[in-house]
Amino acid sequence: MLSHAEPSFRESVDIMFNRAVALMDLSPGLEEKIRVCNATYTVRFGVRLRGAIHTFTGYRSVHSEHMEPVKGGIRYAMSVNQDEVEALAALMTYKCALVEAPFGGSKGGLCIDPREWDERELEQITRRFAYELIKRDLINPSQNVPAPDMGTGEREMAWIADQYARMNTTDINAKACVTGKPLNSGGIQGRVEATGRGVQFALREFFRHPEDMAKAGLKGSLDGKRVIVQGLGNVGYHAAKFLAEEDGCKIIGIIERDGALFDEAGLNVEAVRQWMNKHGGLAGYPDATHQADGSSVLEADCDILIPAAMEGVINLGNADRIRAALIIEAANGPVTAGADEILQKKGVVIIPDMYANAGGVTVSYFEWVKNLSHIRFGRMQRRAEEARTLMLVEELERLSADKGLGWTLSPGFKQAYLRGADELELVRSGLDDTMRTAYQSMREVWHGRDDVKDLRTAAYIVSISRVASSYRAKGL
Ligand code: NAD
Repeated sequence: MLSHAEPSFRESVDIMFNRAVALMDLSPGLEEKIRVCNATYTVRFGVRLRGAIHTFTGYRSVHSEHMEPVKGGIRYAMSVNQDEVEALAALMTYKCALVEAPFGGSKGGLCIDPREWDERELEQITRRFAYELIKRDLINPSQNVPAPDMGTGEREMAWIADQYARMNTTDINAKACVTGKPLNSGGIQGRVEATGRGVQFALREFFRHPEDMAKAGLKGSLDGKRVIVQGLGNVGYHAAKFLAEEDGCKIIGIIERDGALFDEAGLNVEAVRQWMNKHGGLAGYPDATHQADGSSVLEADCDILIPAAMEGVINLGNADRIRAALIIEAANGPVTAGADEILQKKGVVIIPDMYANAGGVTVSYFEWVKNLSHIRFGRMQRRAEEARTLMLVEELERLSADKGLGWTLSPGFKQAYLRGADELELVRSGLDDTMRTAYQSMREVWHGRDDVKDLRTAAYIVSISRVASSYRAKGL
């Protein structure tokens, strides 16, 4: 629970913004222009379901249109409100600027518990919500492009894309009106895993810098690091799975709505997720201890804490009990402004949300470009690339035979080297490059300025200066 002294989510984002602009040289007018949310549209619509009319409330907030389209997910949760969508829209502005995705910031939400409705009902509700947004150009390939967020996924995005296409039958770019679609509806390989994959790439980049690790009191590599993750949904599941299976991390704790699982020896993420899918929660999972009070596991000793569920979970009420050395904010806004200050004093390093979970919007950007270009990445060049590498390999083998050198390439190497990159490889490579480059830009400010003590302030400074340059270029 949030303490009474805790600001709202939007206020928390503003406090963090203000901390950064205090160190920048912006005119007060421009500072205000960047901080405020441009517009929030609230819609109430009725859908006839189960023999009665049910009224739903939804929002689409546009924080900054310094670049268009604006971009940001649509969240389905009972807790959705105007303050929350505005905070999330602001974070989208800064996130896109930080990873150089050419979008302004937006976010949407619908007050609904998706678990209360069956698939057909959810489709009706989603299409109706989409209709309301589409007719006001709040979903549009060149103006406003949503994506999945908490409580939504590929299925909802496919319904939205289809609804847009029905209402805009001659728009050849209709598919680019929303990202995170299934592959068969214009999606891109690697989008579902993208945010979790981005968290993995962010941690790998952090662990490439011993100086940065030292600030968190960490040494060595990711291998064997003890990790606790909160939220085993899209983002948390992929991040935990990749870190465990590919980097040797030990996932010692998983926190969900109905409590937490804990095992010092490391949990099997895939098995836990399958259990959760089947039983709707973690309780009863046979191979670990279940604790009904999940939030206490946030305070357990670990190397890396990954809050990947929702905002405000690390707050004034529990910040001083957090024992993690490093927190990577896979969710948006999991650490409140007050908690951030307490954690900084304790020497905890925080990799901020606007960077840590930017993998989703990065791959959404690739999907949008794919939709506008109407061609799969790699389709033109893949076989040409293979033919050229084959020529080189054959020439090496011929030279070796001619000179009697007896060189042979190992079959594993040859097979891997000869394969041209497909869409998934290209997407992962683009994402890795984006995460590395964005980290470098934050790091330069973090290490380069004495008055910048943390990565979050550094991230804000990078983003705000880019947004400010955009506005200046427009003559504002
Ligand atoms: P999701 O709905 O797939 O998963 C959320 C998970 O958190 C669910 O398993 C849910 O049961 C669990 N959860 C909810 N409340 C909880 C609580 N109080 N304690 C413990 N667990 C709880 O959502 P997601 O898409 O994985 O999004 C999670 C976070 O990541 C959100 O903050 C979202 O804004 C952010 N995010 C998502 C994406 C994306 O591409 N999906 C991109 C960037 C950021």
